[in-house]
Amino acid sequence: MNEMYFDSAATTKVKDEVLQAMLPYFTEKFYNPSSLYLKARKVKKDIEEARANIADFINAEPDEIYFTSGASESNSWVLQGFLLSRSMPDIVVSDIEHKSIIEFIDNSDFPNIYIIDNTKAKTKEGKITNLFFDSFVALKTADVLCSIQTANNEIGTIQDIKTLCDIAHKRGYLLHTDATQAFGQIPIDVKKLGVDFLSASGHKIGAPKGIGILYIKKGTKISPLIYGTQQNGLRGGTENVPYIIGLSKAVSLKREKLKPEYIAFKNRCRDEIIDRLVSEFGCKLNGTTGSSRLPNNINITFPQNITGESLVYMLDTDGIIVSSGSACNSYSNKHSHVLKAIGLSDSEAMRTIRITLPDEFFDMPYKDKQEEINYFIDKLKKAIKAVSI
Ligand code: PMP
Repeated sequence: MNEMYFDSAATTKVKDEVLQAMLPYFTEKFYNPSSLYLKARKVKKDIEEARANIADFINAEPDEIYFTSGASESNSWVLQGFLLSRSMPDIVVSDIEHKSIIEFIDNSDFPNIYIIDNTKAKTKEGKITNLFFDSFVALKTADVLCSIQTANNEIGTIQDIKTLCDIAHKRGYLLHTDATQAFGQIPIDVKKLGVDFLSASGHKIGAPKGIGILYIKKGTKISPLIYGTQQNGLRGGTENVPYIIGLSKAVSLKREKLKPEYIAFKNRCRDEIIDRLVSEFGCKLNGTTGSSRLPNNINITFPQNITGESLVYMLDTDGIIVSSGSACNSYSNKHSHVLKAIGLSDSEAMRTIRITLPDEFFDMPYKDKQEEINYFIDKLKKAIKAVSI
């Protein structure tokens, strides 16, 4: 059996077509896009085409897309840039945001920035409710930015961003959404959602690590995080041309994967595995179900006396790669802040694993997929027996 990589929420393999598209920009097309001569101007044209292609993917305008080094930078930029561009800024974020948001808030000296941990502000599946907005009081004169992710990287819960954005706007607040996990999994239309800012990353969709975007709705005020002349003076630094080209190619390859029938097919494959995990091991699913859940995400808590971490190590020896939580915190001894926020006990959080299925899995013929699932279930049985305490 080939290696079974079930950790696509952590990162994905760079697609061959993406790598091929990138390669010339390391060598014969190496020019600085800001230079004046013809070959450099051609490179500049290529990155502007890439920008337009990526903008189109989320129904934005090209000049609303800024290239960054990844979603952590995009998230940090939007928070810092908002704080520095307003005289009375308030920022409120959900308590199940990615660590790049949570750590920013925890480590910032600005007053009036809050993580909303009111248990009523979300359901036990991690869906943010209207009460999120009743969990804080902003001064009438304050500029308020709310940050709510499009989908969760651990439990796969998809938020109703349009409704949340409408509420935010009715109150005069701006809304940023971290769409890193949703990008390429479900269609995103910034105009329909109405969001003011959106972050996404390349390495979750077959582009390399180290490239991301921040969408900034036209006319929305924000200070730079990195100064310089490039990208309208809002994000300095010579553009990472090969990676920008790679991101554009990865986006193009994702278009056909966002058709409703393909997403429904992915959801069926995902649910088949969930059903087996529930029926054969008595697992409990964390997060939402059906179309409110990311098509590639399974997050389950085992009733057996095991730790997710020991399962990760055991399955690894059989060539099966899963995650014990989120890749961003798997080396920390702390329990996942997301699992804790949706009410899991320490023991439950410890008995949890995340399985995130890559494109390559869904692309396999039916028979091969069944074989992989059977192999996975078999090895899981073996692992649970071996690590039960
Ligand atoms: N937000 C979410 C929801 C993520 O899953 C990740 C990646 N784990 C990030 C932000 C950070 O992305 P990057 O690795 O590109 O900085």
